[in-house]
Amino acid sequence: MMALAGYPLGVRCTFLDRSAEAPGAQVAPLLVGPLEDAALLAKLASDNDVVTFDWENISGAALAPLEKITSIRPPRAALEVSQDRLHEKALFKRLKIPVAGHAPVDTREQLVRAAATLGVPGVLKTRRMGYDGKGQCVVRGAQDIERAWDRLGAGGLIYEKFQTFTREVSIVGARSAAGDIVYYPLSANSHADGVLRHSVAPYTNPALLRSARIYLKRVMSALDYVGVLTIEFFVVKGRLIANEMAPRVHNSGHWTIEGCVTSQFENHLRAICDLPLGSTRTLGHAAMINFLGRMPDRKRLLQIDGLAFHDYGKEARPGRKLGHCTILKADIAARNRALRHALKLIKPAD
Ligand code: AMP
Repeated sequence: MMALAGYPLGVRCTFLDRSAEAPGAQVAPLLVGPLEDAALLAKLASDNDVVTFDWENISGAALAPLEKITSIRPPRAALEVSQDRLHEKALFKRLKIPVAGHAPVDTREQLVRAAATLGVPGVLKTRRMGYDGKGQCVVRGAQDIERAWDRLGAGGLIYEKFQTFTREVSIVGARSAAGDIVYYPLSANSHADGVLRHSVAPYTNPALLRSARIYLKRVMSALDYVGVLTIEFFVVKGRLIANEMAPRVHNSGHWTIEGCVTSQFENHLRAICDLPLGSTRTLGHAAMINFLGRMPDRKRLLQIDGLAFHDYGKEARPGRKLGHCTILKADIAARNRALRHALKLIKPAD
């Protein structure tokens, strides 16, 4: 999606991936090898004007030497802080962005203490390498502590107070090196088993949008950020509680390809290539649905008026994100009707 956004701008991408089957290979040259491979990274850096990433679990240490060759955007500090849930929460707290009560957990005793002081229910998570609900365990009572510790226990964990939210929302924005910022409207996101199923946008709530924009700007400014940044929030009692940030284009922003004048992918490229940022004005009411584990019937889905289909060309595996579709309608009621219809045609495989 990044390479496709680059073509009309004359921006050409080269990818590095562990697999020769990476979707990017369909549309751009691909280097294949470990993401920490010093020689491959050096080639990527010397052959290109700028290096970016769309996955945050790559090693910051491996990227560090590239800074001498070319610019890494977003900055490595943003990548590194987002790789550790505890550091991420510390940054949010420092910037006065509300977060769930939490405590680091490295031993079984610390877990018992955290559950006692913060209360149950709570969520035990790995601090690093967790995404899409992986590496998480809900603790509903004392009886769950052993199970959670057996599943995840090895240190490097965080216990978070469970948030009884009315909604999950995210904000995506882009910042240029000169400090210009553009914001997309809020997306309202529905997850199942920790994985994003679908998003609708714009989610119209002026007070929440105002707060989300302020928080996004604080994080971007603090990190001297360049590129697209996403923050995911829980809405609890009408207030935003930050869950996590992603220093990259985000699944909850895929709807912007059809739903906005400039997509998140294009604005990411514009930001990192020192081009002016594009308008984030919406073109209607959008819904994005992920294809998880199996591809749906393309013919039936394409009968829905205003639906755009995205097949990433990946091999099907249970739970894997294989593609998505976006529905764009002039009004909310029509969008919701089409969303309900599409959801009936898209069944995730377990
Ligand atoms: P994460 O990997 O932190 O984005 O978590 C994946 C999903 O798990 C979130 O989108 C929520 O639906 C749920 N979740 C994570 N943390 C909490 C929490 N502290 N309270 C309630 N639900 C949570």
